[in-house]
Amino acid sequence: MKICKTIADMRAASRAARHSEKRLGFVPTMGALHEGHLSLVRAAKAKCDVVAVSIFVNPLQFGPGEDLAKYPRTFEPDRELLEKEDVDTLFAPTPEEMYPARAVTYVTVEGLGEKLCGRSRPGHFRGVTTVVAKLFHIVEPDMAFFGQKDAAQATIVRRMVRDLNLPVEIVVCPIVREPDGLATSSRNAYLNPQDRKSALALNRALSEVKSRFDQGERNASSLIATGKQMLTREIGVHPDYLEIVDPATLDPVREVTSSALVAVAAFVGKTRLIDNILLNP
Ligand code: AMP
Repeated sequence: MKICKTIADMRAASRAARHSEKRLGFVPTMGALHEGHLSLVRAAKAKCDVVAVSIFVNPLQFGPGEDLAKYPRTFEPDRELLEKEDVDTLFAPTPEEMYPARAVTYVTVEGLGEKLCGRSRPGHFRGVTTVVAKLFHIVEPDMAFFGQKDAAQATIVRRMVRDLNLPVEIVVCPIVREPDGLATSSRNAYLNPQDRKSALALNRALSEVKSRFDQGERNASSLIATGKQMLTREIGVHPDYLEIVDPATLDPVREVTSSALVAVAAFVGKTRLIDNILLNP
């Protein structure tokens, strides 16, 4: 696996792939890799000839007081995992390499960027779309792979690609979960044993919403109330939001008459976790 620390090296690697007419797949990550990330790598390997993965903890998507400084950085084990998956190129730039001094240019997906996590994390999605646009320009992939775990992010990236005519196909892969249902996440490493148990409340709340929906309930307020009840029942869990939205616009729906996204974010102790499920009538 070739490791590129500079933009120039990464560009040279992807240019070489393109010159040999190879289909280039790209998986952007912030590292602390787990099975969720590896599922994206495997999807990329299945669909593309050459796969590049980036590891970059993007300062621009963290707000003041968030966990940028303590975000897990585990480069060596990450590198080994990617070697085992037979990844061709690892792009691991420094923040200084990615953001030139006095950079003032951003990519904003207006409207969508203020929904769901964007409401409680102002500027978060602007940070995401700016870095993803930059990564797309550096790596120039044919296909890029994202996880349904970050459903709003996937919607917003798709919209950016459409609005800016970026020549990349976005593939969204299913959520990978631990055997007990907790969505795999780099932030699960923050959870102490008690928090780890309490964290199951997110998936439990979503499952309860789904089962009420399967029993015929279509009213969003009533479904949301069911989910919130499950969340607040668990000591140590503080809901940020539980919403039912249109997966394309992220706007709340009143009645679930077509495919809808149930998205939840909650603090478990000091750790903010997210999860979601799709309802299909
Ligand atoms: P992150 O390193 O958290 O920025 O995530 C990098 C990519 O991995 C994003 O596209 C995430 O949606 C995806 N991802 C993270 N966790 C999971 C999971 N449990 N299942 C599927 N994809 C995931």
